[in-house]
Amino acid sequence: MIGAPKEVHVSLSGVLKTYDGQHYVVRDLDLEVYKGEFLTLLGPSGSGKTTTLMMLAGFEHPTDGAILLDGRPVHNIPPEKRNFGVVFQSYALFPHMTVAENVGYSLRVRGTAKDETARRVAGTLEAMRLSDFAQRYPTALSGGQQQRVALARALVFEPDLVLMDEPLGALDKRLREELQLEIRSIAERFGLTVIYVTHDQEEALTMSDRIAVFNNGYIQQIGPAEEIYSRPVNRFVAGFVGDNNGLDATVTSVEGDLAQARLRGGAEVVARTTSHTRAGAPATISIRPELIVPLKEARPGALSGTVSNVVYTGDQLRIYATLPGGDEVVVKRPTSATDVPTEIGAPVHLYWDPTSAWALDGQ
Ligand code: ADP
Ligand code: MG
Repeated sequence: MIGAPKEVHVSLSGVLKTYDGQHYVVRDLDLEVYKGEFLTLLGPSGSGKTTTLMMLAGFEHPTDGAILLDGRPVHNIPPEKRNFGVVFQSYALFPHMTVAENVGYSLRVRGTAKDETARRVAGTLEAMRLSDFAQRYPTALSGGQQQRVALARALVFEPDLVLMDEPLGALDKRLREELQLEIRSIAERFGLTVIYVTHDQEEALTMSDRIAVFNNGYIQQIGPAEEIYSRPVNRFVAGFVGDNNGLDATVTSVEGDLAQARLRGGAEVVARTTSHTRAGAPATISIRPELIVPLKEARPGALSGTVSNVVYTGDQLRIYATLPGGDEVVVKRPTSATDVPTEIGAPVHLYWDPTSAWALDGQ
């Protein structure tokens, strides 16, 4: 993907969807998906991700707007003619067919010749590390293996586009992490265009070229994982993607791309502006826990507070500090860090580089 020219493969423009004619569950959706990219739709439950995927797959129709594949409208093409690979969390395998038969199914219904089918099935099973299971029935497989078969079945006919809706949702954490990397590497190896749905921000950050963050049927922000994490455009994105501190404040002045803001307790902080930041307006000062340095000694620009709790999570310490206005701030430090105030009730001075904090819209 990196450095490759960007060719638009799928585009949604002005897509709206309402099921009941009153509430819009997808609104003003404009989205371009590039050939060969791994795009994740990330958002909380009910934000419209599945509906968007169903419209792409052809199982639902947009109330308004257009979906184009390689520049051509798809609305008259039924799901089975779209040549998309589809994997859902509960996309059951055919229980009466072996793994090889399940994987070959979509080729058989397309009328692919027998030897060609056998060749492609064998190749896909090998790529998915399923060759040893070819003659087994789904009930004789673990959940992770079944999901790999579902993936193989969606990839075997070399689809134009792969749509996956929370395909790892039912698996335990370790298996999920393993399959995240596996899906990602298969997508790269086969040069697939993938639209992947999840509510798990870690999964999205791990797998995606780009992430579209959904809330209330709107895309809040779209961009590479690193950009979404380090330059969130609003409070929702800052809070949903990664751990975050959001402190209520009032902007007192704006100079260039930095704003000064007053916190509830009266302390002043400096943070980067967004296009919405205005002097006098309420803002949320957003700062990642790992970008705060907790100091024992006061220093200019540091916020003074009191250690209220310390949590050891194995690889890191989480230090909770209470500020004079009552706000609580969480700081993450590696367990190996020394000179960190860890005594409950001890004074702590929180320092961060002003360019790592953001003054986001509203409170
Ligand atoms: P997500 O996948 O992000 O959890 P969905 O697209 O499934 O979100 O749902 C978005 C909204 O649309 C929810 O409020 C949901 O209740 C509603 N919805 C989804 N499918 C249907 C349906 N078939 N009929 C009516 N309402 C639906
Ligand atoms: Mg869903």
